[in-house]
Amino acid sequence: MRAVTTAQPLDVQPTPLALLLLGREADPKSERGVECPGDLPAPSDPDLVERARAAKEQLGDRVFVLGHHYQRDEVIQFADVTGDSFKLAREAAARPQAEFIVFCGVHFMAESADILTSDAQQVVLPDLAAGCSMADMATAEQVAECWDVLTEAGVAETTVPVSYMNSSADIKAFTGRHGGTICTSSNAKRALDWAFEQGAPRQNKVLFLPDQHLGRNTAVRDLGMSLDDCVVYNPHKPGGGLTAEQLRAAKMILWRGHCSVHGRFSLDSVRDVRERIPGVNVLVHPECKHEVVSAADQVGSTEFIIKALDAAPAGSKWAIGTELNLVRRLALAHPDKEIVFLDRTVCFCSTMNRIDLPHLVWALESLAAGRTVNRIQVDPETEKFAKLALERMLALP
Ligand code: SF4
Repeated sequence: MRAVTTAQPLDVQPTPLALLLLGREADPKSERGVECPGDLPAPSDPDLVERARAAKEQLGDRVFVLGHHYQRDEVIQFADVTGDSFKLAREAAARPQAEFIVFCGVHFMAESADILTSDAQQVVLPDLAAGCSMADMATAEQVAECWDVLTEAGVAETTVPVSYMNSSADIKAFTGRHGGTICTSSNAKRALDWAFEQGAPRQNKVLFLPDQHLGRNTAVRDLGMSLDDCVVYNPHKPGGGLTAEQLRAAKMILWRGHCSVHGRFSLDSVRDVRERIPGVNVLVHPECKHEVVSAADQVGSTEFIIKALDAAPAGSKWAIGTELNLVRRLALAHPDKEIVFLDRTVCFCSTMNRIDLPHLVWALESLAAGRTVNRIQVDPETEKFAKLALERMLALP
């Protein structure tokens, strides 16, 4: 017989972290977990597609919708242009007539669009909880502390910061202030070449933020450095977990950050797919681990992956190591080729997937009703230095 107990109210309060992860709490400094105000339409509403279409039509040229390659199909169908984060920010800047830029992507991308567009344009992120775990891995405080460590070790003066596009506006501004540049996964080699040419040739160091894998892969594969030329700065350890001697000896100081999607592909996934599909070409993104990139046949940005598959002959076989939404769309677009996802256990980017049709409908209908919601606005001081770093990238040879 079961004992009967009287239910007592539990005195358990949700932790701030749990609320952040659920997107129910505000943290303006974080790339994730920010409250999404307003009444969202139900995901089961059968009229969502029609509602999005009608609101977009009502707004006409006043709105321009950007869709990142990793977004869901239900959202991508409403994008005026698709692309990677940098291409999208430039597309937004090239549409000065658009009063509203609705960015279907993640927070740092919307910040970059705000930095590159005019003050008259308003950038909207349909769900403020769409952050990026990689961008979250380098905060302004941590990076300032790192710079103090480099200064104490006597290497700050000869270190040039190079920050990946996938970073917050604060980190881009830090980069601009300290004479550095932004890079994308397409131009990382050019950015590193430029950084090492500043001052005495080859005497410089680079502090690469926040993706250690892109930094290491570019230094070793494209610049011919050895793995020993790279050290990893861990912001959770005193002094980054490095001695002053290690910092002085290193050429590349890699921030300990990674993409929670690309970082999950493993050497086993490559071996497994080669066994399953004889003759397969393995094509991966440079945010993957060095061992994965070394075992792949080709490595490149999302734009590179799209072009490589467009140019591939019918009947060719491909295993792709990048975000699942894009791989699925590419497989559908190329029925004459065999295209598979590199690792069957890796899932979608959860923060990219926060932008769904209900959030898009809500954002568009609010704009059509004269209410700007979820505006992303970078403060003028941060914008000034972040823009400087972005402009250095645009001027790269
Ligand atoms: S795929 Fe990776 S880098 Fe891109 S938004 Fe998601 S976590 Fe960030």
